[in-house]
Amino acid sequence: MRFAHRVEPDSHFRLSDIDTNDHGPFSGKDDPEVARQLADDLARLGGLQERLYAEQRQALLVVLQAMDTGGKDGVLRRVVGPLDSRGVHVASFKAPSSDELAHDYLWRAHARAPRRGDIVFFNRSQYEDVLVVRVLDLVEKARLKRRYAHLVDFERMLADEGTRVIKIFLHISREEQKKRLQERLDDPTKRWKFELADLEMRQHWGAFQEAYEEALRKTSTTTAPWYVVPADRKWYRDVCVARLLVETLEDMNPQFPPGKLGDPSRIVIPD
Ligand code: ATP
Ligand code: MG
Repeated sequence: MRFAHRVEPDSHFRLSDIDTNDHGPFSGKDDPEVARQLADDLARLGGLQERLYAEQRQALLVVLQAMDTGGKDGVLRRVVGPLDSRGVHVASFKAPSSDELAHDYLWRAHARAPRRGDIVFFNRSQYEDVLVVRVLDLVEKARLKRRYAHLVDFERMLADEGTRVIKIFLHISREEQKKRLQERLDDPTKRWKFELADLEMRQHWGAFQEAYEEALRKTSTTTAPWYVVPADRKWYRDVCVARLLVETLEDMNPQFPPGKLGDPSRIVIPD
């Protein structure tokens, strides 16, 4: 069972073909199957993550991208939060500092890639360098155009060296973003999240969708695929992401190592 849409390499993929309001086989939020599915997958995830950590042989990098209010924080809280913090980390990428800008754009991302045994979630990522940077025209076109190939090569290198990479785009509609921004304004407990910059970015909605579409088309590979998760319904988004993580980790198939001491029956624990 798979809920997220995998972007096939070299396809004429169109974001607008994907229904942001999709709810899969579930009737709605209160469908008892929803809670069951999520609880099952979170339990499986916990077990798989422990094996990955114990094994110390492979790593997993999950790139999370979305428009503002798209739900990155919600996913991190509800799907990633319950995992063991030993071996699971989140790296957030804000607008680059002057030091970061003085390096190539992959430098800060590479530095936060996972160690063997770990899972790292990128909350925004090196992809901002072909998204916001493209929309706001922050580097010249010829330079930007070359970056898609760098991104693919970087991920191939990580994969060759033992790091699985998957990339997730939480896909919300323009109307849903408006609703969520309005909620932030109306609800005093959410108002601290409201930023005027979000309104400015919202004006570039169309350009961002085009930038995402191009990035997903050009950088979805069999080694490091992009998945589009319909994210207007928060509960469905969480179920989709949890499912995707379970499928990815099951495919990686981490195993508990045999132990460092040889035959355990030869070891006597003193009284
Ligand atoms: P929140 O959900 O808390 O708002 P956020 O990820 O939107 O989280 P912000 O601090 O609001 O965090 O925004 C980070 C900003 O940094 C985004 O607008 C993003 O586009 C921008 N940014 C990230 N990477 C780059 C980059 N390489 N170049 C330019 N801007 C970037
Ligand atoms: Mg923001």
